[in-house]
Amino acid sequence: IPQEGVRTRFAPSPTGYMHVGNLRTALYTWLIARHAGGKFILRIEDTDQERLVEGATAVIYNTLRKCGLNWDEGPDIGGPVGPYIQTERRGLYGKYAHLLVERGHAYYCFCEKTESEEESGQFDRAADPCRTLSLEEAKARIAAGESYVIRQKIPSEGQTTFSDVVFGDITVDNDTLDDQVLIKSDGLPTYNFANVIDDHLMGITHVVRGSEYLSSAPKYNLLYEAFGWTVPTYIHCSPVMRDQHNKMSKRKGDPSYEDLLAMGFLSEAVVNYVTLLGWSPKGENSEREFFTLNELAEVFDIAGISKSPA
Ligand code: GLU
Repeated sequence: IPQEGVRTRFAPSPTGYMHVGNLRTALYTWLIARHAGGKFILRIEDTDQERLVEGATAVIYNTLRKCGLNWDEGPDIGGPVGPYIQTERRGLYGKYAHLLVERGHAYYCFCEKTESEEESGQFDRAADPCRTLSLEEAKARIAAGESYVIRQKIPSEGQTTFSDVVFGDITVDNDTLDDQVLIKSDGLPTYNFANVIDDHLMGITHVVRGSEYLSSAPKYNLLYEAFGWTVPTYIHCSPVMRDQHNKMSKRKGDPSYEDLLAMGFLSEAVVNYVTLLGWSPKGENSEREFFTLNELAEVFDIAGISKSPA
């Protein structure tokens, strides 16, 4: 992995507090940047307005600051911009989606599909009349005031291979992927689309995130391909589990960093412990159990991230 110009980002959605799994993602992201002498970017992914929780962004800022995970771009540290807030950048995503439509990698869709219909795969994308609508017809309907979304046009044939540092190469048949929505009817981008656009525009070289996103990753590859952009290095991490079968979850009330402090754990101890949940040092440090944050930054290597759930 090239060390020059490393730029990573932590991209939380402000949908609740930060549980231990989220904190670990933030830590690995920060450590990769600091180890390489690169930059760590904070980006708030708040385009899914229905899932926003009031106060969640403040909790994210506080937790990162208290843990010592300072970010590099932002007005409060004299930087030009940042932390980046996606809803404040809403104007730029549509432009990229329209570009994909012009190039035949996306289409305007006028069908009314509920979320549950989408999830159950009830709609056969090959039978979607909007997929084959001519651009002129679509534009005429938009001009007439019809509401629409923009969907990614997944190739009907062939396969897509996605590479991940932890999970290796994953190949899927394109006909198993759905024509995901890129721009919603309210004009806001979906999380998946804004994520790709911003990772590219922000020059992100390494993406660290939870393995729950692995299944949508091939669609990301197709987007990068359609734009002709370089795909970043993806590092998907297995979840931190609450018990044998369930992963840590905000919804199930698993403890946040703040809860752990309230129980009397020291911040440094939490940071050390959480980092070692799913990452092990190698060589002379392989038996070592205690590190300060700066010591972790010195020794952190991506190869030590485990594929097994913690
Ligand atoms: N916004 C996503 C979340 O909060 C993170 C996705 C990513 O890091 O790519 O779960």
